[in-house]
Amino acid sequence: MATLGQAVDTATENMTLSQQYMALEDRYGAHNYHPLPVVLSRGNGVYVWDVEGKKYFDFLSAYSAVNQGHCHPRIAHAMIEQIQTLTLTSRAFYNDKLGECERYLCEYFGYEKALMMNSGAEANETAIKLARKWGYEKKGIPANQAVIIAVEKNFHGRTTTIISASTDKSATKNFGPYMPGFQIIPYDDVPALETALKNPNVCGLWIEPMQGEAGVYMPQEGYLHQAQTLCRKNNVILMMDEVQTGIGRTGKLLASHHENVQPDLLILGKALSGGFYPVSAVLTNDEIMLTIKPGQHGSTFGGNPLACAVTMTALQVIKDEKLTENAAAMGDIFRQRMRALMKKTDLVTLVRGKGLLNAIVINDSSESETAWNICLQFAENGLLAKPTHGNIIRLAPPLVITSEQIHECCDIIEKVIMNFKK
Ligand code: PLP
Repeated sequence: MATLGQAVDTATENMTLSQQYMALEDRYGAHNYHPLPVVLSRGNGVYVWDVEGKKYFDFLSAYSAVNQGHCHPRIAHAMIEQIQTLTLTSRAFYNDKLGECERYLCEYFGYEKALMMNSGAEANETAIKLARKWGYEKKGIPANQAVIIAVEKNFHGRTTTIISASTDKSATKNFGPYMPGFQIIPYDDVPALETALKNPNVCGLWIEPMQGEAGVYMPQEGYLHQAQTLCRKNNVILMMDEVQTGIGRTGKLLASHHENVQPDLLILGKALSGGFYPVSAVLTNDEIMLTIKPGQHGSTFGGNPLACAVTMTALQVIKDEKLTENAAAMGDIFRQRMRALMKKTDLVTLVRGKGLLNAIVINDSSESETAWNICLQFAENGLLAKPTHGNIIRLAPPLVITSEQIHECCDIIEKVIMNFKK
């Protein structure tokens, strides 16, 4: 059980420990999230515990960053060892981990070059810069005319450039002026893509192979493959944001692999470090990567020895523990169970997803609180999940979950749904 340490000036005597921690964040932190009222202090594998000692299945996995499970001992060991050796040198000097990690990343995902950053947003920013630079220097696009095609309902992060391509009002409102150079087309719409690609100033198509934040939307089978074919035909870079879908989550190493697509520019983050440390990366070929020269892009922490040690171990864990294969198998069980549940109730209208990136859609308007209230009930019954948008609940446990555990979780979901009163 955790103790609150420093006195909380907002606490009153009859507040629980959880309420005190929530009051502390509320009082001193920015209100840029709307968390479920649960205060976590410990994690192990698929489980997390709150400050009162209650145990939960984690069905968010830190937005798919904790694919390897909480506090994986091998990653923890690699991290501790590297912390005691060398953590940060900056890129002003070479270090003995970066090249090794870059080679590891390239061989693991099948690319020629890697550029490491920290957050997913930074990796996307890097991809935008690379696509533009390549557009001007290799494709011959006139100065400042480059266009990147993005799609409706995308989510690539929170920087001012990235939100300039967003169609989500809450992400964009009153954050203008916005960055030019993006054309937004509908997702999963090949004719719209064909039309947009007629513009010779297009340097990149920037998509997620499944839209996680938007509510786990999957394009129709064939869309990703056709997008790749059209990009090649029009000399346009296919930039795939696999920050959420990558590294085993959808039952393939990359979600692009469901359609045998190898993006020209691969954007990774989150599970690259198994939740230990912010690590992101962009992978591509020599032609694209080498358009960026010394001094033109970088980050003090990007590619530091600690990040490298953690990343190599986190990726090795995915392979050694066959987590991609497990995600595929556990995902099948999960969706089967949810489809069976849909036959017993009309509260769940849809289950969709691949591997262990799934969502259920609740039979209510997207403005209502029903999905939120269901998530509160899930929490009470020992399972943590959160609505993505309105009436859509994303369900994405760590990939280490066993079949016994996934059945136990489906039992919890079923019990809550069957007993839920609006
Ligand atoms: N891209 C995708 C597809 C994401 O889901 C996210 C985060 O949820 C990001 C980018 C942004 O990553 P970060 O929060 O690490 O900046």
